Amino acid sequence: MKILISNDDGYQAPGIVALYEALKDVAEVEVIAPEHNNSAKSNALTLHSPLYVHKSSNGFRYVNGTPADCVHIALTGLLGYRPDLVVSGINNGANMGDDTIYSGTVGAAMEGFLFGVPAIAFSQVDKNWGELASAARKARDLVLQMSHQKLIGRTPWLLNVNVPNLPFDELGHVKLCRLGRRHAAEPVITQLSPRGDTMYWIGAAGPVMDEAEGTDFHATAAGHVSITPLKVDLTDHDRLSYWAQTAALLSEPVSTSGAQSK
Ligand code: MN
Repeated sequence: MKILISNDDGYQAPGIVALYEALKDVAEVEVIAPEHNNSAKSNALTLHSPLYVHKSSNGFRYVNGTPADCVHIALTGLLGYRPDLVVSGINNGANMGDDTIYSGTVGAAMEGFLFGVPAIAFSQVDKNWGELASAARKARDLVLQMSHQKLIGRTPWLLNVNVPNLPFDELGHVKLCRLGRRHAAEPVITQLSPRGDTMYWIGAAGPVMDEAEGTDFHATAAGHVSITPLKVDLTDHDRLSYWAQTAALLSEPVSTSGAQSK
């Protein structure tokens, strides 16, 4: 089994080192990851500046680009072969519900999926790497079990996994979940720069809105490892028929005569 590992926290982050250490004995593993922290970069690609690849003393390769850049160039020429699996993480903090739209951890995995390679995004629920060894061991067990079940290397799929920061023996079983939802993000934070200009800082992620049973938020709060299959098609299939009725009207010109108040 050949595994490509990437992340969004950067090639020096403890999470990717732990993931590499956990997988290197069970597969042929290569790490190609961003040089710097690229959290919340989603699937962004760098189109207007060149990308450079360097090799660290530990063998990891790092790129002056985004998580998706790393996986993209790996799969389209840099690796020279097709990996059986793309694994991203382990991220410093949860990627649940709406987080998955913004997540660079998910973006790296999704890039693999878009190229037809099965992919898993791993995140720890809490930041700051508490019980990281436990999450890495769980990631290894999951990959081994999926290989054992012959799920790797046939049809592509994309899985989002969140692991509570608990000792290994206290982790609940793996629970299949749907994504929960968050409220909209907190307000932007403004500060005055030393030169007197207003600076805007993106506010914190919104609090949880939907943490009902069956969601990733609910499962991880109970100590379970959440696993959510993701798809890329954003079509609102449920509302296609509603929009079909409306779409017919959208071709009609709107008469503005008499509509404006005087
Ligand atoms: Mn991150």
